[in-house]
Amino acid sequence: MGRRYRTLRGFRDILPGETEHWQAFEQRCRELFARYGFREIRPPLVEPTELFVRSVGEQTDIVGKEMFTFGEGDESMTLRPEVTASVCRAYIEHGLDRRGAGRLWYLGPCFRRERPQKGRYRQFHQVGMEVFGEREPATDLEALALALDVVRAAGIDDARLVVNSIGDEACRPAYRARLVAFLEQVADRLGEDSRRRLHTNPLRVLDSKDEQEQALFAEAPRITDALCDACRAHHDAVRDGLARLGIPYEEDPRLVRGLDYYVRTTFEVRATRGLGAQNAVLGGGRYDGLVRALGGPDVPGLGWAAGIERLLLAGGVLDEPAAARLDVYVVTLGASPPETLALVQALRAEGLAAGWDPGGHGLGGQMKRAGRSGARFAVLLGDDERARGTSTIKDLASGEQFEGPGDPGAIAALVRSRISGEGAAT
Ligand code: AMP
Repeated sequence: MGRRYRTLRGFRDILPGETEHWQAFEQRCRELFARYGFREIRPPLVEPTELFVRSVGEQTDIVGKEMFTFGEGDESMTLRPEVTASVCRAYIEHGLDRRGAGRLWYLGPCFRRERPQKGRYRQFHQVGMEVFGEREPATDLEALALALDVVRAAGIDDARLVVNSIGDEACRPAYRARLVAFLEQVADRLGEDSRRRLHTNPLRVLDSKDEQEQALFAEAPRITDALCDACRAHHDAVRDGLARLGIPYEEDPRLVRGLDYYVRTTFEVRATRGLGAQNAVLGGGRYDGLVRALGGPDVPGLGWAAGIERLLLAGGVLDEPAAARLDVYVVTLGASPPETLALVQALRAEGLAAGWDPGGHGLGGQMKRAGRSGARFAVLLGDDERARGTSTIKDLASGEQFEGPGDPGAIAALVRSRISGEGAAT
């Protein structure tokens, strides 16, 4: 017997029953982004490795150990572990700043060689946005409102929004020095990763998932106590705006992004159910220095990304598999397969989802398949109906059976009015 293949560890099939839920969520995202004036961008899945090294950062876990990389030297390429770098690259490459396309969104797969667990996969999907050229705190506020709309679109209505400010090049260096001094004092109680990061990326140490370390950091100096006047004003404006919009939020001075071009606002949305340890469904922040660091114009930027698998898990969207759906299933007697297919095609041309049995089974076999297909109605066509120019329509939910028209346009109109009548009734 041949070998049976399975998906690789950390990779999953999204099967019928799930795909319908994905499509519905994706459609809601499309509508939301359009309402906020965002346009979709679809960069390739593979980029030069260097792009991620420069933008995500050499000291991060992602670049250090999680990238799927192929090829050598100048030819080295990587499956994207996130999408912000690609969007910035595209923004610069195509001069999107000159085309007024500063509000962009995306949706698609990302790849990280992480240790798989619930809510953590090696291929996962992100939906996210980037805004370029907008410096004011009002933009942060709007991006947060949009983030929460997307989270709600996944059926999550009790998510926690956590915000912080990490300052900028004016105030962060002094804070960083104080933080390093603090961390050095407790270095003997830090894990290996944190000790290594202490000098390469000290802010990121605060991000540790280790509970003992987190207990130590309760005493650490807080970035929000060390903000310069401009950063403080920006942060206050965001907080004030959230309060005015009635958006509940928490503050967490340990919510950091470890890279120099991240400034001021950082945020995360955490789910309260369904995910356990991997409860961060969305994360983002302001990165005013990134586009310039990648060789582009000096424009400010801000973005967030959400993991779709986590959103759908936390929203309970996947709890019930979606059922197969057809509007009609065509059942014929005494017709050749091409004759039956001609009617099916005519109904499809009228916009109905139509199924049939290409296997040439008898009436009983076709009706059984009609039942299994999930169709709302069976359209039956035998010698009688053909002679009279009619059809017999059977409501597969109630079992009710009645005479219908023979013309495909009229059949479609009847079926549609029945289905929309039901929609209106519920
Ligand atoms: P990050 O770029 O790490 O801030 O990730 C943004 C969002 O993507 C997170 O909040 C998660 O929802 C999601 N995400 C990140 N890594 C994974 C993964 N390995 N599996 C599933 N979702 C992920």
